[in-house]
Amino acid sequence: MTKKTLIRVGSTVLFAFVATVTAFAQPIRLRVDATEAPRRLYHVELTIPAAPGPLNLFYPKWIPGEHAPTGPITDLSGLRVSSGGRTLEWKRDSVEMFAFHINVPQGASSIDVKLDFLSNSDAAGFSSAASATSELAILSWNQLVLYPQGKASDDVQVSAELRLPADWKFGTALPVTSANGSQIQFKTASLTTLIDSPVLAGRHFRRIELSPGATPAHYLDVAADTDEALNAPSELIDKYKKLVKEAQALFGATHYREYHFLLALSDQIAHFGLEHHESSDDQSRENFLIDSSSQLAGATLLPHEFVHSWNGKYRRPEGLATRDYEQPMKGDLLWAYEGLTEYLGWVLTARSGLRTPELNRQFLAEGAATLDNRAGREWRSLADTAVAAQLLYEARNDWESSRRGVDFYEEGLLIWLEADTMIRKQTQGRKSLDDFCRSFYGGASGPPEVRLYTLESLIETLNAVAPYDWKSFFQTRINRTGTDRAPLGGIEAGGYRLNYVNKPSEALHASEQVRENVNLAFSIGLKLNPDGTIIDVLPEKVAAKAGIGPGMKIVGVNDRKYASDVLREEIRNAGKTGLLDLLVANGKSLSTFKLNYRDGERYPVLERNGQPALLDEILKPLSR
Ligand SMILES: [Zn+2]
Repeated sequence: MTKKTLIRVGSTVLFAFVATVTAFAQPIRLRVDATEAPRRLYHVELTIPAAPGPLNLFYPKWIPGEHAPTGPITDLSGLRVSSGGRTLEWKRDSVEMFAFHINVPQGASSIDVKLDFLSNSDAAGFSSAASATSELAILSWNQLVLYPQGKASDDVQVSAELRLPADWKFGTALPVTSANGSQIQFKTASLTTLIDSPVLAGRHFRRIELSPGATPAHYLDVAADTDEALNAPSELIDKYKKLVKEAQALFGATHYREYHFLLALSDQIAHFGLEHHESSDDQSRENFLIDSSSQLAGATLLPHEFVHSWNGKYRRPEGLATRDYEQPMKGDLLWAYEGLTEYLGWVLTARSGLRTPELNRQFLAEGAATLDNRAGREWRSLADTAVAAQLLYEARNDWESSRRGVDFYEEGLLIWLEADTMIRKQTQGRKSLDDFCRSFYGGASGPPEVRLYTLESLIETLNAVAPYDWKSFFQTRINRTGTDRAPLGGIEAGGYRLNYVNKPSEALHASEQVRENVNLAFSIGLKLNPDGTIIDVLPEKVAAKAGIGPGMKIVGVNDRKYASDVLREEIRNAGKTGLLDLLVANGKSLSTFKLNYRDGERYPVLERNGQPALLDEILKPLSR
């Protein structure tokens, strides 16, 4: 039995959760039949140790890494509870939808639970969105388990068995006792470890060792919809090997027994990454490993999720380290949890060669320009986007500029870039954020452990690297509202400035291709679907000022039928003629909007500003 010790770092208070020996010392037996995963149906049987009397069973609600109550309770089906063959009545709590009340009969020492999980086929969302196809499945244990409400997840032991479709292979960080054909028995683990260790399985499967012969081992486990999609070029695999080396050089220690990148490649599943301590659930397009645009647009996916093993899992903000799946998570420090991870993921992407520094700068330009044109900065602080993360992950794309989205990722990146340049300047280049990382996330290598952090502990470690008024540094950037621009100080101190040119960069081009949208945000202020439907308008730009809004659809441009190329051409011509009339459908009505616009096409770019190119220094590899 492994116990996790939670230590509040940077303050004098030290505490540990003490193991309580109770009736639940016996493991829960969990048997999952995934043979019908291709039709998105899982069958589950649980044997849960229990004492006579009232018992509440709980379905995991707050999902780690998703920072929100996203447990897919609606898809729990076929719930049947019995004991010794006798059916027991269950009753859902009328306030807490994730809790079920049961009465365990006299003489019983366990209950049997059967349930089905109805897996989503809609690809919009995160781990509870589409995650199974005819060829592969990503199994998230939180979707397949009930546990006694009120127990800390560290104190609940689970012995899991899994049956896969015939001929499917699998990868997971969860230690295996035996694998007999498609029947797998896992070692008994805490509920924390179980839920933190998803299983990737599929017919077309490839395991690539990323640190051959070294301890701990690192694996890239790939399942795809076709064999062809597994054919990663050897140069790309070398870059992922380099990623492992660069991360170890950055942090100086590892906090996992082994690490598995679980990469699922399909055009039918949700596309996102979810961090775990010893693995990551990485889901992307089928051609991710074999198409250069797809790889370029998603290059930070694996680096970002890998960084989370240190920032997010090993070191975790207090408000996000909950003892079970029932307590609400507090997102106040997500600008560090996600923002610093976004920054370090971006840095490691270049250091491992997954992108050239030039391409990394192009993506940075796009992110910086997006934030610099966020109308919502007027009313909403970055801190509020972090606190409201549980709402914003689910927010729609329309009016995003006014509402703001999960801006703590990209804006967090900008702030931590600025902190890095600040340390380098303060110490005349002797220290950098790399030193902070070794100090904050390093220590002794070993198995998973959680150490909490607070704003104060971040500041304390930063001060030990380079003394500065870090509290004001963060507070001004995180709490301000008004007409302020995005925090571009790191780009400027890094030797660059944000500017606009009339041709899209390779990065923008790849993003548009992969995301299948048309980004005219920085000229007339529109983001569109290829068919002309408007995704979002930037309130300060001409299209919105003329009265255009999201959900409308452009059907004509200056008497020509709409196509994205036609619109771009007419935007260029408007530089000379000043004529840009858009014929727009709004439901059943059609209107012409006359745009007063003469600036031609505008796409963000970073240009050198005469300062030393610190940004390029930051992106240089540490390992040889
Ligand atoms: Zn993340």
